[in-house]
Amino acid sequence: MTPTLDRVSTPAYARPTRRRPPAHPASPLDPDETPRARTRRARRMARELAVLHPDAHCELDFTNAFELLVATVLSAQTTDKTVNKVTPALFAKYPDPVALAGADRADLEEILKPTGFFRAKANSVLGLAQALVERFDGEVPGRMADLVTLPGVGRKTANVVLGNAFGVPGLTVDTHFGRLVRRFGWTADEDPVKVEAQVAELVPKRDWTMFSHRVIFHGRRVCHAKKAACGACGLARWCPSYGIGPTDPEAALKLVRTPAASDTE
Ligand code: SF4
Repeated sequence: MTPTLDRVSTPAYARPTRRRPPAHPASPLDPDETPRARTRRARRMARELAVLHPDAHCELDFTNAFELLVATVLSAQTTDKTVNKVTPALFAKYPDPVALAGADRADLEEILKPTGFFRAKANSVLGLAQALVERFDGEVPGRMADLVTLPGVGRKTANVVLGNAFGVPGLTVDTHFGRLVRRFGWTADEDPVKVEAQVAELVPKRDWTMFSHRVIFHGRRVCHAKKAACGACGLARWCPSYGIGPTDPEAALKLVRTPAASDTE
């Protein structure tokens, strides 16, 4: 019997799929797929992600590049929601690099406590603010080459800042992004820098920032690390990993997370 699905409670980004489960899930990176075919498939999937997650956006609250840079550094090992709870007090007291560079460490640690690893994070943001004051005149630089010279800032953080505060397209390879593009069969690499370079070949540059948000939303809501909701996934027909999670639509829908519950990683 075809399972009946509760359409009222089915989120718009969940798509019950009728694809037959594979006897043996394919190896994600198909050596026989030509670069041209992979690019076409990738672009089709990227367009579908835009349809599935029209609300995708940067979930860190910020009003300028400095706030976004600090918030991104603080988001390591915690959720964006937790960071958003501490940053209003942080930026009310230390609104710019000069103020933050001169912050009282104990006070800073107290503010950052809810984010976990608060001593290390206090060190990171103090070092970051001091570097901005000493080397960049108290301004956040708008170039990748400069951003990655700042303490605690790698390509991922730099791309978040470039893409969302400067309007410079950037691919944000976090844990969700890497997992999903490997499952999509776009790359087999684990190294984020190589993953970024390979995905950059497949997705048009102008779309990089929004594409990153959409992939991350899909990872949080549907294609989870432990149990992918394959039977409720709008990408199922193009995904070689279809079948690594439940393919029964009803079982899969139970795994789909709502936006409120999805910011857990
Ligand atoms: S949920 Fe399944 S079908 Fe969808 S992208 Fe993830 S692995 Fe592929």
